[in-house]
Amino acid sequence: MNQEITKNKTEIQKQNLETQIIRGSEVPEESKKNPFYNSYHWAMADWEEKRLYLPDNSDEAISFAVAAHELGHLVDEGRIQPDRFDFRATYAEEQRAWAGGWGYLEKYLLDYYDNNFEAVEQIRLVGKEIEKLLMEITRMTEFFYQKTDRDKNSQREEFLKTAEGQRVKLAINGLRKSVEQKVRELKLDIFLNRINWDKYIMVVSKAVMDIERDNMELEK
Ligand SMILES: [Zn+2]
Repeated sequence: MNQEITKNKTEIQKQNLETQIIRGSEVPEESKKNPFYNSYHWAMADWEEKRLYLPDNSDEAISFAVAAHELGHLVDEGRIQPDRFDFRATYAEEQRAWAGGWGYLEKYLLDYYDNNFEAVEQIRLVGKEIEKLLMEITRMTEFFYQKTDRDKNSQREEFLKTAEGQRVKLAINGLRKSVEQKVRELKLDIFLNRINWDKYIMVVSKAVMDIERDNMELEK
């Protein structure tokens, strides 16, 4: 770890983020039991517990796209409570997260890419493609909301047994490949490099800080 990173890390700790950023690999075992869990790109923003889980073994393309998305969920303004009985609410919240998150992340991407504007533009483009792939998967989950069950685990298990559920599982597990294909088509293979976790959370932390500030403004 170079000195600059150490310095910035300390700066972030001083800022005292309310939200804790956690490695995706350290997710509770309970979440790993979800049949739709995929360790390569799993991420989650728990805005109630103020925990942000991000993938720590993924590539830059997926890591930044999912970070932008999860950041969007942390924004309080306009949040639509996702509901496992209501596809439309969940879908609308997914769209809101994509629309709101990039703006917070984008300006700090220059830190990760050492002020290379072109790289930031390119990763944004890649992010857009990943957004399309993930929204497509979200659309595929519509049937899940019709299998309403009292218990969320059995709702998932029931959904998994259906053809639609199997398609979703395949798409989730195939996401890494689909992204790889897209990125290669765009000739932007450099973004398939593994994420540098320390640099990554430094960038994400700055965006979280801005979101927390805006959320506080909203409370006033
Ligand atoms: Zn989401």
